[in-house]
Amino acid sequence: MENDTQHGYPNLAPKVFLFILIANVIGTNVFIPYFTLEFAFQIWTWSLYADIVFIITMTLSLIIPLKLHAKNGSIFTNGLICGGLVYFGYMISWFFVCNTSDEFSMDDYTIVYHGYWGALACMITSMIMMAKTDPNYIDSKQKNHIECPYCNKSFRVPKNYTGNANCTECNSEFRVVSAHGESVAVFLDAKLPEPVKHSE
Ligand SMILES: [Zn+2]
Repeated sequence: MENDTQHGYPNLAPKVFLFILIANVIGTNVFIPYFTLEFAFQIWTWSLYADIVFIITMTLSLIIPLKLHAKNGSIFTNGLICGGLVYFGYMISWFFVCNTSDEFSMDDYTIVYHGYWGALACMITSMIMMAKTDPNYIDSKQKNHIECPYCNKSFRVPKNYTGNANCTECNSEFRVVSAHGESVAVFLDAKLPEPVKHSE
């Protein structure tokens, strides 16, 4: 797993844990009207084999699309792959529940076909995880320091923000200009050189 940071997915373990939790809790909605949070965790007591299969298939259902996304960058396609893998993982896991637990038999196998809400929730979760590695998103989370040109009060602004701002200290309005990852605050009537046009 040492390559994960290079591919833009640091801290994979908590992501996998969250993903399995969502697959577990939302996937349990097939048991409505029995569904409660307590019941969602009770299903882990049915079959140890199914638990292991579920953990393995759900882990792969997340890691495979994330790896593919790091290679080809398509959020939508890899989100769909994730949803498909989760649905497939439910089917394999449920097969083990039906065959190795006292609670269910193969007569109950068709319950698993109602697992699409869980697959959908996992698909959306994986797409959010993918979107968060997008360079534009990461840029928008980064802040630059600027100083009010009137009173020198220091502020943090989003790295790519260009536009007017009001100083909370002296109430003056000024303009924030960002270029090449740097931000500066200037007087509103400051004469600026024409910005160099470049596509984002
Ligand atoms: Zn100020």
